[in-house]
Amino acid sequence: MLQRKFDQVVKGHFPNATDAKDTSIQYLGKMQIEHKIDISKVLMATSVCSDDINIPSTTFFNVLFGPFIMGGLGGLPFAGQTGMTAFAHHIPDGGSAFIFYGPHIGITLDGDLGKMYRPRQEDTGNSCGALMLALDRFQDGNYSPVINDDDYQQMKLEESLLPYREDILNSDNPQKAITEATYEIIDKKIHDHLKSCKGEFHADHVTLLGGIIINTDYGLDDYFDARNFEVIDMKSL
Ligand SMILES: [Zn+2]
Repeated sequence: MLQRKFDQVVKGHFPNATDAKDTSIQYLGKMQIEHKIDISKVLMATSVCSDDINIPSTTFFNVLFGPFIMGGLGGLPFAGQTGMTAFAHHIPDGGSAFIFYGPHIGITLDGDLGKMYRPRQEDTGNSCGALMLALDRFQDGNYSPVINDDDYQQMKLEESLLPYREDILNSDNPQKAITEATYEIIDKKIHDHLKSCKGEFHADHVTLLGGIIINTDYGLDDYFDARNFEVIDMKSL
């Protein structure tokens, strides 16, 4: 019942979103049927935010090996080229790779974006916490992130978002806008790292599934708004 209510609320903001279970079935099916990929030999990597709330969404792909975890705060692939290289070297013989990536955003039944009820907590909390913190700081016109050892990921995340700052703040829904901007940053970095590390892959194909994870209440399925599904032929990259 609650799941059905969430369905309407989520689709109000993300009309193409499907629940995480349907997402995994749909895309694993596409890989197998349309692209003739042997699912029993696929190593998965994720580039999603460190937040514990995203774990259930990635477990829907548990039929695959992995995951190799590339993501840090916000979902940026902080493991970098070294991480991409290591991942490439771990692919089963004769197998292929799958990378699931994107930022996340919470939603409440009232349709508030950037918030969610977390397990055993009475009040709503931020989701994504890292992105909502960045948004809060961006509202101070004098603020700019300072890269440092003790808060490296958050500062890098904010630095990557600086070119989008004005657009985000002027948007009708800044919570959604900062999430969309982060998707673009992650998507570009994944493609960049794949290109620079292509010589490390002995697999012929790398499947990408990128989009936005939408966190609902605890115990209910998350949703996924797919933005990119592609099977890359590594020889032509
Ligand atoms: Zn997060």
